[in-house]
Amino acid sequence: MRYLSNVSTLEFYSGKCTGCGMCVNVCPHEVFEIREGQAVIIERNRCMECGACVTNCAFGALSVARGVGCAAALINSMIRGGEPTCDCTTESSGCC
Ligand code: SF4
Ligand code: SF4
Repeated sequence: MRYLSNVSTLEFYSGKCTGCGMCVNVCPHEVFEIREGQAVIIERNRCMECGACVTNCAFGALSVARGVGCAAALINSMIRGGEPTCDCTTESSGCC
């Protein structure tokens, strides 16, 4: 699934990547592939900024501002109308 174009805050620092493949394993949206011993972002617009890749990269080769895009809220707003909201501020485990 692709989210909004060109809004993901995902960053990749190739100089730190060892090609361990953990990001490929944990990303739920198949954003990465390993090519020639390094990770490659093959589809940035699939990134929902969950942060799993950053949490599991032991080499500091990735960063993302978790939840900043609030892609689900934006998509829901487009479908249903009204202001984008994920209502996270009303829950103890807010995402934004
Ligand atoms: S988890 Fe980090 S070091 Fe491993 S392949 Fe992905 S970006 Fe590279
Ligand atoms: S933040 Fe989540 S969706 Fe985005 S690349 Fe990392 S694991 Fe995949």
